Amino acid sequence: MTTYTNFTVETDADGIALVTWDMPGKSMNVFTSEVMDELNAIIDQTVADSAVKGVVITSGKSSFSGGADLSMIKAMFTFYNEEKVKDPSTAAQKLFDLVGRMTGLFRKLETSGKPWVSAINGTCMGGALEMSLACHGRVASNAKSVKIALPEVKVGIFPGAGGTQRVARLADAQSALQMMTTGQSLTASRAKAMNLIHQVVEPDQLISAAKQMIKDGLKPIAPWDEKGFKAPGGGIWTPAAAQLWPAAPAILRRETAGNYPGALAILKCVYEGLQVPFDTALKIEQRYFTQVLQTTEAFSMIRSLFISMQELGKGARRPAGIAKTELKKVGVVGAGFMGASIAYVTAAAGIPVTLVDRDIEAATKGKSVSEGLVKDSVGKGRLTQDEGAALLARITPSAEYADLADVNLVIEAVFEDRDVKKAVIEAVEAVLPEGAIFASNTSTLPISGLAKNSKRPVDFIGVHFFSPVEKMMLTEVILGKETGDKALAVALDYVAAIRKTPIVVNDTRGFFVNRCVFRYIHEAYDMLIEGVPPAMIENAAKMAGMPVGPLSLNDEVAIDLSQKILKATVADLGEAAVDPRHLALINRMVDELDRRGRKNGKGFYDYPAKPAKKSLWPELKTFYPQKKADEIDVEVLKQRFLVTIALEAARTIEEGIVTDPREADVGSILGFGFAPYTGGVLSYIDGMGVQSFVALSEKLASLYGPHFKPTALLKEMAANGQTFYGRFDPYAGAKAAA
Ligand code: NAD
Repeated sequence: MTTYTNFTVETDADGIALVTWDMPGKSMNVFTSEVMDELNAIIDQTVADSAVKGVVITSGKSSFSGGADLSMIKAMFTFYNEEKVKDPSTAAQKLFDLVGRMTGLFRKLETSGKPWVSAINGTCMGGALEMSLACHGRVASNAKSVKIALPEVKVGIFPGAGGTQRVARLADAQSALQMMTTGQSLTASRAKAMNLIHQVVEPDQLISAAKQMIKDGLKPIAPWDEKGFKAPGGGIWTPAAAQLWPAAPAILRRETAGNYPGALAILKCVYEGLQVPFDTALKIEQRYFTQVLQTTEAFSMIRSLFISMQELGKGARRPAGIAKTELKKVGVVGAGFMGASIAYVTAAAGIPVTLVDRDIEAATKGKSVSEGLVKDSVGKGRLTQDEGAALLARITPSAEYADLADVNLVIEAVFEDRDVKKAVIEAVEAVLPEGAIFASNTSTLPISGLAKNSKRPVDFIGVHFFSPVEKMMLTEVILGKETGDKALAVALDYVAAIRKTPIVVNDTRGFFVNRCVFRYIHEAYDMLIEGVPPAMIENAAKMAGMPVGPLSLNDEVAIDLSQKILKATVADLGEAAVDPRHLALINRMVDELDRRGRKNGKGFYDYPAKPAKKSLWPELKTFYPQKKADEIDVEVLKQRFLVTIALEAARTIEEGIVTDPREADVGSILGFGFAPYTGGVLSYIDGMGVQSFVALSEKLASLYGPHFKPTALLKEMAANGQTFYGRFDPYAGAKAAA
């Protein structure tokens, strides 16, 4: 047996070398520079050893591999930026050579002359799938945990180590494009149906099946290296391709509004690559990959969606020196819309839950939400019957506060009413054990105010979920004035346990996410009032990269909730704090027309019975004199949405509500889908440069109102040539310590 740091190589009596990838100290195998060096050495070793007839590569972990490591991706950007400073004329060429390393390594494996089989025992993503595709045989286990994907497009890049070329030479072009431009995960059987996998076997048969492929005489030659090879369907110059290719860019544009350079590059790679010999095709892919890596979109998306999201998920904001909390039991008080789902995600994470409401009927009704969700998951094969039953057994409905005497954490999700919450805080604290934490899921009431009702405000914190709780990945953790480190640590341990991404913010009206969201919705009110046709408002927002139009979003969150918030703002801050035209519009919708949103089947949209689709309410156009569509500049509409949200985010930084730019960015994408290609609200500003952003804001302020005026901080940053990531460097502490 030969042992490397990350691999072992063991050759059996049949001359088959079993390469087991098992990186020390990591929960998942990833490609690093060292892994590539070792794989290169293993290829040399197996080629040189005449006793080796073939190679099976597998993983020693429960997953196969997640693909490239953060450090490698980061290194590419750092390398390019440094080279650009040294010599801009050669930087792109050097980046091109660097990104070709993985491509070359996999090609070396493919043409090594010995047959390689990848034995895929679990999740196999990105670069790991690209390596497997360069192997001559691929066998996957049929375990539920096997997910096969090229998800690069989701972080702004694309499969750049031969993936676009090999997938398009194995699967039909349409499925190949679909898989890569969406980054979707395939089950092993779907991957087999697409011709990406040769065999799907029981987990315990994996290695023997892989070895058998070699014993059966697997040729060490990729199909595309055989004479006369033709891509499935015959390539580009066929009648079928003539149907597909003219439509493909249009479909992509419909899905992405042209905002994602990585997705477009996939189309180009496949279309151009299928017309040339394989090695030339790899060069084409390498060239586009080099181009995409130089885009602001790739840089910002990787930073926010890959690096920052992982860092926040791993507790970047967790206070040091506090032992990890093992949550033995969590109490949820209020088994309504939110509480019921919070109980579900908690039980799904393996934590027992006591679900309390005013009476046992209400608590039991809350539990029935979990029963519905479990039934759904079992039906879809995501949970077994037993797993579903165990999950449900972890939720105990109750009407007795005394049942909370043994919990580590209570999450309060009762009515949004200060007096109701006060009574609940007092009742819970009367039984809550020493050291347990009280978290409120309030969406509008400042945490410091609620904490005034608490006898132990140090242990009082906000944990703000988003609906639907089981789908939304973000949780906003809110620090009251007196919240202590222990409460923060427990809250973050809980959020990690339920596998959501936390952002930690200081207390303010609307916290971070809702402050930004309502700017988005209010801009749409302004546009309505100006006479912009509603359909144009919705479409411009989507073209700007927002997943849901602002009017549609307002229907989802409820128009009467907007009314409530506007009224509360007037009550607390005075008339001047809201735009009276907004209030008039919303009062008319709610009080005169009873159009409250999706929940009562009528809002800015009409909601006919299924299967008919919702459509914009035609009467909305009669509210204000309508402008003609060609008098309106769509680009300006798009800018208004992004700029008004980004300005609000900048204000939260200026006010010290958000302290870490990673949290603003990740929070904006996960919380309300802020144009992900920008990398989030602050990356949007940094990406265009603070100076340009200030100039754009000033222009918009002169045309559309003072809410676009750049803040003092922005102006100062523009004058000093600063960025958010520079001025509020999230790694400053670590750098100072180093
Ligand atoms: P809801 O009306 O659906 O549920 C509230 C539940 O609390 C009800 O089941 C009610 O019986 C129960 N309750 C009321 N008084 C109680 C008491 N004294 N003891 C025990 N139970 C009591 O409301 P919801 O939409 O689930 O909102 C709950 C909280 O979550 C609010 O603070 C709200 O602001 C916040 N929130 C809501 C959303 C959302 O999208 N609806 C999102 C984030 C946060």
